[in-house]
Amino acid sequence: MKKILLGLLVVVVALVAVVVIKTKGFKSKQIVAADGKRKDVAIDSAAVAHLSDAIKMRTISYDDTAMMVQATYDSFFTFLKTTYPLVFEKLGDTIINQRSMLLTWNGKNTTSKPVIYYAHLDVVPIEETTLKEWKHDAFSGDVAEGYIWGRGTLDDKGAVISLMEAANKLLAKGFTPERTVYFAFGSDEEAGGMQGAAKVAEYFKAQGTKFEFYIDEGGLVSTGLVPNIERPVALIGTAEKGYITLELSVNMPGGHSSRPPRETAMDVLVAAVKKLHDNPDQHTISEPVDEFLQYVGPEMKSPFNAVFANRWLFKPLIMKEYEKSAEGYALLRTTEVATVFNAGVKENLIPTQVSAKVNYRVLTGQTTKDVIQNAKDIIEDPRVIVTPREVSEPSKHSNSSTYGFQLLQKTAAEVFPDAIVTPFLMIGSTDSKHFQDITENTYRFLPVRMEPEQVRSIHGINEKVGVKDYMETISFFEVMLTNLK
Ligand SMILES: [Zn+2]
Repeated sequence: MKKILLGLLVVVVALVAVVVIKTKGFKSKQIVAADGKRKDVAIDSAAVAHLSDAIKMRTISYDDTAMMVQATYDSFFTFLKTTYPLVFEKLGDTIINQRSMLLTWNGKNTTSKPVIYYAHLDVVPIEETTLKEWKHDAFSGDVAEGYIWGRGTLDDKGAVISLMEAANKLLAKGFTPERTVYFAFGSDEEAGGMQGAAKVAEYFKAQGTKFEFYIDEGGLVSTGLVPNIERPVALIGTAEKGYITLELSVNMPGGHSSRPPRETAMDVLVAAVKKLHDNPDQHTISEPVDEFLQYVGPEMKSPFNAVFANRWLFKPLIMKEYEKSAEGYALLRTTEVATVFNAGVKENLIPTQVSAKVNYRVLTGQTTKDVIQNAKDIIEDPRVIVTPREVSEPSKHSNSSTYGFQLLQKTAAEVFPDAIVTPFLMIGSTDSKHFQDITENTYRFLPVRMEPEQVRSIHGINEKVGVKDYMETISFFEVMLTNLK
């Protein structure tokens, strides 16, 4: 008995020792200690007016791209040309597939691979029923209460105009980037990017151009998004989940609802959807999420830092904590959710043909092929036909050892010295998926500070960007172009 107790004690002491040693060795990965003060930024009123003007132009995206108004895009390009004449004098400009614009800024070193900064010109429509809830009209571009208001201020015209402002400022100083830089402005990100980003990527593929990296919208700078961290966090998306929608369809005899068969097409469909819901994917900490934990962990207070330093021991605890929020749950697995049912036309008629759509977001390390097979295995019913729609694989993981990430981290640390900078996994989808073949490295970062309320305003009501925050975004692009080697 004594021996067993003694043995147990040795194990506990050893465990504690390992935990302590691991915690001691769990060093901050921040370049600048993230306790600096926020920098003061001067307000450039001309830059504010330019974003305000850009918001007024209704470059609205529709799933049916035939509904998109060409004239609005044409006027947007004219607006860019008249607002930034120096940029158009020094950079080459090309229109791709009528509504996307590509600007080429030749660098000093033509042997280095070029880089792309991407942003999209289109915005989502405003729901009629929410019009009255906007404090300032959605397309007013009003400047009030320290904000610029309107659809696109955050997603994503703010980035388009910030890039133009940054280039304009640098050109005025006679600056030339070290390597060639492309600005690509896509036209239909909100509708899948097939007419915009996909065409831009095809254009480069046809030329055989390969890029060092690609940067798109994605993570942001915010407080309160990461549990146990009080300081602002700059989230740089180093990977993005994949996307697939499975259409489930069932075709069975229908008829009069007064004499229903024991099982109808609708019953079979509902059972299949329920089975998928009841069998979620196993949780796991994928590579990009583990890297995120390595970056945020050392910035936490005790005992949380010890928990994150010892993921080998506390992994189940960490996963349990993260799974409490919808975002955290989505970081740890491939998610599925039923989004559309197409069934029935009349209350007294049993439908013959019914279908549903189940949308999946695929975790890094899995493939959409796995998702299809898993779904079929779970449903286990040959009467349910499973058809994949809208397929895109999870992105590669552009980890923190890459040049692009280090450049982003350095720049973010310089511009947001009060923030913790970290890689993370994007659970949403961006246009970056179209660029996977022309670069190994894709990052998703919109260098804007946002309050949680602003994060919710994206695709919602009262979208607005802080005037000072917008100044920082311009500064971010300026510093990043200067830091680019
Ligand atoms: Zn966007």
